[in-house]
Amino acid sequence: MANSRFEYVRTFERENILLPQTHIVIRVDGRGFHKFSDFYEFEKPNDEIALNVMNESAKQLMKTIPDIIMAYGDSDEYSFLLRKDCQLFDRREFKLITTFSSSFSANYQYYWNKLNSSKPLNIERLPTFDARAIVYPNDLNVIDYFKWRQVDCHINNLYNTTFWNLVIKGNMTTKEAENKLIGTLSSDKNEILFKEFGINYNDLPEMYKKGTIFLREYIDFPISKYKEQPTNECLIRLIKRSKKTEIKQYHCDLIKDSFWSDRPYLLQ
Ligand code: ATP
Ligand code: ATP
Ligand code: MG
Ligand code: MG
Ligand code: MG
Ligand code: MG
Ligand code: MG
Repeated sequence: MANSRFEYVRTFERENILLPQTHIVIRVDGRGFHKFSDFYEFEKPNDEIALNVMNESAKQLMKTIPDIIMAYGDSDEYSFLLRKDCQLFDRREFKLITTFSSSFSANYQYYWNKLNSSKPLNIERLPTFDARAIVYPNDLNVIDYFKWRQVDCHINNLYNTTFWNLVIKGNMTTKEAENKLIGTLSSDKNEILFKEFGINYNDLPEMYKKGTIFLREYIDFPISKYKEQPTNECLIRLIKRSKKTEIKQYHCDLIKDSFWSDRPYLLQ
């Protein structure tokens, strides 16, 4: 645009550049999904189609933004890990988070219409997502971040599964179920599920218990070679040689260390 005497107003704009050489995690979360899930009559505790809409939206975002190396999601949230040397939008925070939230919201609406066509979206209640960016200075912080989200998924799922069984099969009111669960430990909830409803929590679908992980994996990465000589130089050399990447979906445990040690390139 040509210069004009009005252009000085641009100097009022502010940027926040995310610290270089740090891991960036961007988390999106659905706005008011407690009500959204009531409005569209989600199956409780887990509406499988709604989870698939989340997963397809995240996978599509990963396809369009090559800097995303990993994504983890459950319920109405998804976390995206960007490559440490990511220069997308020159690491401008507002550009990054507004792009993630609007792209994820757009994808969600597209996949909702595709996978949930019997429930047309109502203009009064459209799905939208907020986003935040967090920078982590070292690998351990990033690993602990994803462990934190997966533990949260497990705790919420165990609670929600017990709560909704008490309400739907146990004919309790939501208030009664809530009161019954106050102060209970995980072992108490497992016991309620087993004794009152014949449900073995361990047998529930992995996607509900562990959430969903997408990884941009080097499918030809010679992990045994790296383990012989686990140095940064070696890792960079092996990454350069491995060319084939593929986005793969998992519902596995990322709390065990082997998840990370088998894929050293995730944190490079
Ligand atoms: P960025 O992602 O940096 O914003 P951009 O390609 O969107 O990149 P803008 O400066 O925002 O760049 O320019 C938007 C461009 O979109 C316009 O220059 C024009 O070419 C096109 N465009 C937008 N709206 C219309 C429209 N209604 N009709 C025709 N062209 C349009
Ligand atoms: P906020 O706008 O602050 O995020 P929220 O109502 O979205 O408010 P969250 O803590 O994000 O609050 O919780 C999302 C809620 O959406 C869950 O607690 C659950 O009730 C519901 N929900 C999300 N996904 C599903 C699903 N696949 N099946 C059933 N319920 C779901
Ligand atoms: Mg423009
Ligand atoms: Mg929230
Ligand atoms: Mg939410
Ligand atoms: Mg949430
Ligand atoms: Mg533009």
